[in-house]
Amino acid sequence: MSANAVRQQAIHEVTNRPLPDSSAVQPLSEIWAADVFSLAVMEESLSKNAFKAMKKTVQTGAPLDSATADVVAAAMKDWALKKGVKFFSHIFYPMTNITAEKHDGFIITSPEGNAITEFTGSLLIKGEPDGSSFPNGSLRMTNAARGYTAWDPTSPAYVMNTPNGATLMIPSVFFSWTGEALDKKIPLLRSNAAMNDAAQRVLTLMGETEIETLNSSCGAEQEYFLVDAHFAHNRPDLLLAGRTLFGAAPPKGQEFDDHYFGAIPERVQVFMQAFEDKLFRLGIPAKTHHNEVAPGQFEIAPYFEAANVAADHQQLMMTIMKTTAKEHGFICLLHEKPFAGVNGSGKHVNWSVGNSTQGNLLDPGTTPHENLNFLLFCGAVIRGAHLFGPLLRAVIASAANDHRLGANEAPPAILSVYLGDQLEAVFSDIKEGNIATSSDGGVMDLGLSQILPFTRDPGDRNRTSPFAFTGNRFEFRAVGSSQSVSGPLVAMNTMLADSLTWIADKLEAQLETGVSQLEAVAAVLKELMELHSAVIFGGDGYSSEWHTAAVEERGLRNIPTTADALPALVADDVVALFERTGVLSEVELASRYEVYAEQYILSIGVEAKLTAELATTVLYPATVEYLSDLTETAAAAASVGVELDTGPAKTIAAEANGLLGAVSDLNAALSVEDFASTEEHMQHCAGPIRARMDAVRAHADRLETMVADERWPLPKYREMLFIK
Ligand code: ADP
Ligand code: MG
Repeated sequence: MSANAVRQQAIHEVTNRPLPDSSAVQPLSEIWAADVFSLAVMEESLSKNAFKAMKKTVQTGAPLDSATADVVAAAMKDWALKKGVKFFSHIFYPMTNITAEKHDGFIITSPEGNAITEFTGSLLIKGEPDGSSFPNGSLRMTNAARGYTAWDPTSPAYVMNTPNGATLMIPSVFFSWTGEALDKKIPLLRSNAAMNDAAQRVLTLMGETEIETLNSSCGAEQEYFLVDAHFAHNRPDLLLAGRTLFGAAPPKGQEFDDHYFGAIPERVQVFMQAFEDKLFRLGIPAKTHHNEVAPGQFEIAPYFEAANVAADHQQLMMTIMKTTAKEHGFICLLHEKPFAGVNGSGKHVNWSVGNSTQGNLLDPGTTPHENLNFLLFCGAVIRGAHLFGPLLRAVIASAANDHRLGANEAPPAILSVYLGDQLEAVFSDIKEGNIATSSDGGVMDLGLSQILPFTRDPGDRNRTSPFAFTGNRFEFRAVGSSQSVSGPLVAMNTMLADSLTWIADKLEAQLETGVSQLEAVAAVLKELMELHSAVIFGGDGYSSEWHTAAVEERGLRNIPTTADALPALVADDVVALFERTGVLSEVELASRYEVYAEQYILSIGVEAKLTAELATTVLYPATVEYLSDLTETAAAAASVGVELDTGPAKTIAAEANGLLGAVSDLNAALSVEDFASTEEHMQHCAGPIRARMDAVRAHADRLETMVADERWPLPKYREMLFIK
């Protein structure tokens, strides 16, 4: 088939595609959490005592005894078998950004040859996949490569349905024989516990007496692209790298702003509904969906949940998005920058902390006392973001996200905090010492009571900020669309734990001097602001003035690439932070650094090799075929006495040579093998390799606009973005 025929065929298939059958519309009440082994299910199937123990574990993270585990396992098995389940799997979250599973049957055979089913507490609790096949950084050095999974009872088990079967999935942690965390869940659980410990101290000093366990919460807004499978399957770059390595910008892009919040195409709406029904069955509270800025780009945002559950649900959601898209003839792209020149995709991680007794501590509340708690917690976040900006940059670093950060569409690679005018004014008052106004010898909370009717910052909340306060939570906007939310949540919880500890120490010292609670809070927050207000920024994060001022006047760091960002994971201050909070040991951090660096190097390597290969074997041949068309046409014209202008052919020939030249430069960079350190290797990827890939692409994209459309082999941007 000629190049043209492949693209024409794809267009034909897409435009004549029937809508999937959508007859089976089910009411929410029938499907909500239907496949979840929830507390409600447990309440019905467990004894009173077992249920009580289980509920306590879910709510406070308290360990579960083995007798209860046996009871829960038996109930879980019965529940699952009734749903047609034959296999179970511990599902876990290795340091690579994916999920991992190992399926096991419930079945064992009796001596008589009958099949019986068995599932004990110990099977539920512990699995033993072979850890050696998962990247584990320096932890691989321990000769016990084995990894173990262990049930996380705080995240509900569920059943995953496939067309002819179902599997019981058990959310789990994954650790080494020596007890080191090999996954993304253990640090999240530990960071939550560290945050709780520190928060308890602060709240106790604030005179609270009844304080339930504090938990962090997360609501992630997920952006994604849908491309019809007919186009995607003819784009090896989309299939292997998740993004287009070539592609000229179409004459019409997103500049009309006609896509954002526009009517959702019917075929996409059908996909969304099917996808959301699956989420509902799994108890994932899909809440909003809409078109995004770019053509072909959409967003889904579930309602927020406890961070650990939200993180599991987020991974599950990404998996289900991809499989459901396939059923609907789409490829779902979670890559941060699938199309050059078109907005990329992020994942806004909304985060807060709270409990049932004090409520959401990042919500200002309605009494002066609640306001004080709020200001302390908010101040703690500000301190954390200022001290550990490079850590926050490191946990969102990836080859793909580098394309977004720093481009004028996504938050900059400089970590600053946006508070909104009102709250920024309050903190500036605090810094000036204006919150505790003395009158008639008494201390009044004038400044503070003024923030009581705190209005939520409306609609447009400075989209240029990477880290923004949005009324009752912080929104970490620089997170990439394909990333696990765990890394950002761990970093935020840990820096908060550390800052709350700092605050507790300072508060304690103040209170010992006999001052009032208000004076103590005012003094601590004043000191905090004097040290850390430089991180607060309400202006335009995209502007070049900010890029200069942030670095030169504020002392913040601009960290453009993953190669620059990842070393922060093993920097002295970060190691000390994680060690003193007990969230990750130095060895665990080092292994993370190694794994993420390796991922970065590997993914740039794949892209670079694919760039060279596609340029050489697909684009160059198409170009020279077209050149020979031109030569033949010129000869034919000459035979009737007409001299055709040879300009176009010459330009194309020169670009074709340029393309090959750029490919050989790229191959030369790829052949470099001796690196003194991982960091040097990453810099080689971020520098020469990336630049040379761009050079290859520049030639190819110019050729795309010169070679006859019918000769061009790869589906074009206009087709992938606009034809649904
Ligand atoms: P927006 O105005 O940005 O659309 P939404 O109210 O839709 O805001 O919230 C966006 C996300 O923030 C949702 O996932 C929502 O559940 C989440 N969210 C709201 N409150 C909190 C909170 N206290 N903690 C964490 N996430 C929250
Ligand atoms: Mg959004």
